[in-house]
Amino acid sequence: MRVSVVGAGIGGLTLGLALHARGVEVDLYERADELREVGAAVALSANGSRELIRLGVGEALDRVSTMPTELIYRDGRSGERIAAHPGGAAYRERFGAPYWGIHRVDLQQGLARAFGPEHLHLGHGVTGVHDDGRTIALDDGRTVTADVVVGADGVHSVVRGYVTPDSGPTYSGTSAFRGLVPRRDLPSLPDPLAIQFWAGPDAHLLHYALGGVERDDDTVNFFAVLCGPEQWDGGNRPAADGELLAAFAGWHPAVVEMLGAVEQSPRWPLLSQPPLTRWSRGRAVLLGDACHAMLPHHGQGANQSIEDAVVLADLLAAGDADAALARYPRLRRGRTRAVAASAWETGTLLHLPDDDVDGLKARDARFENYLPANDWVHDHSATTTT
Ligand SMILES: Cc1cc2nc3c(=O)[nH]c(=O)nc-3n(C[C@H](O)[C@H](O)[C@H](O)COP(=O)(O)OP(=O)(O)OC[C@H]3O[C@@H](n4cnc5c(N)ncnc54)[C@H](O)[C@@H]3O)c2cc1C
Repeated sequence: MRVSVVGAGIGGLTLGLALHARGVEVDLYERADELREVGAAVALSANGSRELIRLGVGEALDRVSTMPTELIYRDGRSGERIAAHPGGAAYRERFGAPYWGIHRVDLQQGLARAFGPEHLHLGHGVTGVHDDGRTIALDDGRTVTADVVVGADGVHSVVRGYVTPDSGPTYSGTSAFRGLVPRRDLPSLPDPLAIQFWAGPDAHLLHYALGGVERDDDTVNFFAVLCGPEQWDGGNRPAADGELLAAFAGWHPAVVEMLGAVEQSPRWPLLSQPPLTRWSRGRAVLLGDACHAMLPHHGQGANQSIEDAVVLADLLAAGDADAALARYPRLRRGRTRAVAASAWETGTLLHLPDDDVDGLKARDARFENYLPANDWVHDHSATTTT
């Protein structure tokens, strides 16, 4: 069995490693010349980290990650703690794997180092899929044929254009700014090593600390979400000067301090892919954001890509490509839809208006019960479901 993977993001690299580990020949084709996304981080929960540990990269990733001390929900204006859940060693003990905050570049480079350079083709963009899904066309004019082509090429997937041509992501009506701030610039921040959500009308702030024993770095990664604008065409765009701070005027001093500590980033549209009924066509199949891009409010997009990757690797390693591609969506569709729906719901809860008194009461109860109610997300062991 030979597999071509389009995209060496988190999902593509995990699939490459998992196929390698199972003795399947695999080549990764990545459009970017190098794996580098500085300034962006990702949080991996136990359902993702457990699979990376099984793939042998746990120790290396652990050294460049932090484990948030707690998961805290706060009122964005008063700063009052609405609810808190244990992080760190208590979380790891409960779910059998850690919660990691990690720079995206460290994660991708850690996975790429373990995969090795021989079959990782950087600077190779894929322009199309042909031949019943077996052949990819590269942007240098060459073609490559394999038994299976996997589209791990993200939310604007080229492979998805072959598998299900009329589909594509939709704008959620929400947009975001992000930043990395040195902890020393955040004297007002309570619990700086926790992962925290600050909730308020039409907006929220999420942040967590980065670092790790091998990383000379003590930054906090933040992600500030605003409802609106109603319409959005295209990708990120610069926002008017002071737009972010104006949207959070009157919020808790720690929030204002964090958002004002760095230059304002571009504003990002938050996209999600409506559920696809078709995950493969011929021998081409989709994985991760290409298939089910979701809102980030549950911190699960990358984790679900990792889960997809190890499930697909197990199925392909059994040797029957057609059987694998038939079974894969049956194992993954329900779960990814449920997680995506839950991310939408979390977004709604984080943005409730002040006059929705009953809604706010229900929200607080949901946040108090967040971890027990979401055991099904964190406890999941994807490799044991195949
Ligand atoms: C602001 C923000 C914060 C987030 N935070 C979290 C979080 O904390 N936890 C979490 O689990 N998820 C998070 N997510 C979601 C997560 O980033 C994605 O779900 C995850 O990166 C998806 O992985 P992927 O491998 O499917 O796609 P990607 O990571 O997007 O990788 C796709 C790769 O394919 C390459 N590519 C694209 N087109 C081509 C082509 N034509 N030819 C060759 N290569 C191509 C790209 O260059 C890229 O390297 C967040 C998302 C956002 C926007």
